[in-house]
Amino acid sequence: MAKILVTGGAGFLGSHLCDRLVERGDDVLCVDNYFTGSKNNLVQLLDKPNFELMRHDVTFPLYVEVDRIFNLACPASPVHYQHDPVQTTKTSVHGAINMLGLAKRVKARILQASTSEVYGDPEVHPQPESYWGKVNPIGIRSCYDEGKRCAETLFFDYHRQHKLRIKVARIFNTYGPRMLPNDGRVVSNFIVQALRGEDLTIFGDGKQTRSFCYVDDLIEAMLRMMDSPAEFTGPVNIGNPGEFTMLELAEKVLQLSGSKSKLVFKPLPSDDPRQRQPNIELAKSQLGWEPKVKLEDGLKETIGYFRRLLS
Ligand code: NAD
Ligand code: UDP
Ligand code: UDP
Repeated sequence: MAKILVTGGAGFLGSHLCDRLVERGDDVLCVDNYFTGSKNNLVQLLDKPNFELMRHDVTFPLYVEVDRIFNLACPASPVHYQHDPVQTTKTSVHGAINMLGLAKRVKARILQASTSEVYGDPEVHPQPESYWGKVNPIGIRSCYDEGKRCAETLFFDYHRQHKLRIKVARIFNTYGPRMLPNDGRVVSNFIVQALRGEDLTIFGDGKQTRSFCYVDDLIEAMLRMMDSPAEFTGPVNIGNPGEFTMLELAEKVLQLSGSKSKLVFKPLPSDDPRQRQPNIELAKSQLGWEPKVKLEDGLKETIGYFRRLLS
């Protein structure tokens, strides 16, 4: 029974990860400061003997004894990470330093939840891991993008300098049950708007693209990445290569929810990437993984979740 630390475990992805780890019999310690996460995401685990929940902010040191660390703590939605951008950078950078320091002391294997945002507004399409990205260092998304890039730097320097066993996963847009209704991300926004009969807010002309991965597929890839041979550090892209414009996504949500909502166009936030699609050849070859859930099927599950939540 491995003792596993999940930071940000009360959030959307973290809580699904805790579910899978507890179910397979690992001893899970979840730490979270509840900035965007909630105990509600973990009620099903609170009485399990192999699950423990601790309120803690990863920008402060943490002394615990564990074998493996999944470092997910960081707000992921632009609305949330721009709310307190200084804290966002601190969470990525000081949080990474503390978790790497912990991993170094206890000789734990550590996985970083990085992001496709390290590619910024990409000029190479689809994005392979070898692409260095096009990121604005001083824009409103920089606290997140540069924070995550710096965290990757720290991971690879701890690996080179201190021989730490690291794993870096670059996660592309992921959606599913337990996203927050007011989270501001496009999938939750469109579904909540559709179910409430409100206009769907399209930012810009809606022709920008994203590639959406269902949460179950993503968690499977993260587990495989953590368990992969030590010499495979990544970075590895994890996402679903199916690419859609925001207009296409809006149409799908309207169709699947049976909503009569209209589309309304709003200004495009600055530095909003125009296109994004993962090249997942590395994940396929090294992890034997590829996503299985089609956008329609994942959206149906997610719409069902929000329907229950809002009723
Ligand atoms: P989320 O906001 O639901 O989860 C983040 C969790 O981290 C929350 O529970 C929050 O309370 C916690 N947290 C934030 N700051 C903290 C701090 N200083 N100390 C302790 N806990 C803190 O977001 P998510 O979608 O579940 O994302 C999880 C991770 O995956 C993040 O690191 C994010 O950058 C990464 N990621 C997510 C996506 C996606 O599409 N969901 C894409 C790329 C990367
Ligand atoms: N750290 C921690 N838990 C530990 C060990 C270290 O939170 O179990 C933090 C500690 O605050 C330190 C950081 O991790 O500042 C980096 O640790 P490292 O050993 O790499 O650096 P140093 O302690 O030499 O600054
Ligand atoms: N978006 C939109 N309407 C919304 C929320 C977002 O059109 O109500 C757009 C946003 O401008 C971006 C895309 O959807 O182009 C994805 O946004 P999200 O915040 O989900 O993720 P990210 O931009 O970080 O990939």
